[in-house]
Amino acid sequence: MILCADIGGSFIDFAVVSPDGRVAHRQAEPTPIHDIRAFADILTKLCAPWPDVALHIAIAGVENPETGVVHAANIPCLANAPLTSLLQERTQRKVLIANDADCFALAEARFGVARGHKNVFGVILGTGVGGGLVIDGRLVRGLGGVTGEWGHGPFIIPPPATPPGLDLSGVIPSFRCGCGQTGCLDTIAGARALERLHLWAGGSAATSREILTQWESGEPEAGRTMDIYLAYLGSALALVVNTTGATIIPVGGGLGGSAALIAAIDRGVRQKILVQCDAPLVVQAVLGRDAGLLGAACLECESERR
Ligand SMILES: [Zn+2]
Repeated sequence: MILCADIGGSFIDFAVVSPDGRVAHRQAEPTPIHDIRAFADILTKLCAPWPDVALHIAIAGVENPETGVVHAANIPCLANAPLTSLLQERTQRKVLIANDADCFALAEARFGVARGHKNVFGVILGTGVGGGLVIDGRLVRGLGGVTGEWGHGPFIIPPPATPPGLDLSGVIPSFRCGCGQTGCLDTIAGARALERLHLWAGGSAATSREILTQWESGEPEAGRTMDIYLAYLGSALALVVNTTGATIIPVGGGLGGSAALIAAIDRGVRQKILVQCDAPLVVQAVLGRDAGLLGAACLECESERR
């Protein structure tokens, strides 16, 4: 068994996970986001009843495998912290850490809707856009620990110079992204971004959930917004499929709860990829809030594999 913690900006979700994916002794604690000592204390307390059992962590952040430094925007006390070594020392056990979207992808590949697929690209459509890539059951980790971040990188960009006579007034603006770039997919495809897009497209102020409900009932304002949303999201995801060879894309996160949205994304993606594919590619994830813990349980030590 493995001790697993799914750590977000609000809560630390903790459980003991068995190799076949059974979750036991589940408990939650508020995340001390401003005090790294309190942060380590809570994990030490949670682990204490199981001495010498490894702790695997899914975190809303990224650990740089070269430096061991973690960057987690919603947990400021971890800034520049060598978290793995710190927690190994404090909890007196082996600790492995991975991004929560990566753990989500790994969990859906091993235990969820993507079981049996060789190439899995897991997508989080929540407040922002995230993802993780699993090939042959193994998490792929790239430069600086980053993989699967299909929501980032300038995507909606104006031409370097507007050619004379070309009217760009109706072109979607390049919104500034939290990553420092402008025009990332994340600036139109996350929940808050969808709400802003709706306003930009002439819609009334509404939550992402309301926009989806209005769209599903055929309301034209929401329909206009969702046409734009789906066009950009589908294009980006088609590029992901063509690049990674993913044969299934489980979608989780708040927006992933809409079956109609997932079906519409799936239709758009299959129209845009190079290969004709008759079976659904983009599907709803099935593991819900267990995904982070289950994925963390599947983390293996990369150094041991080499
Ligand atoms: Zn970005």
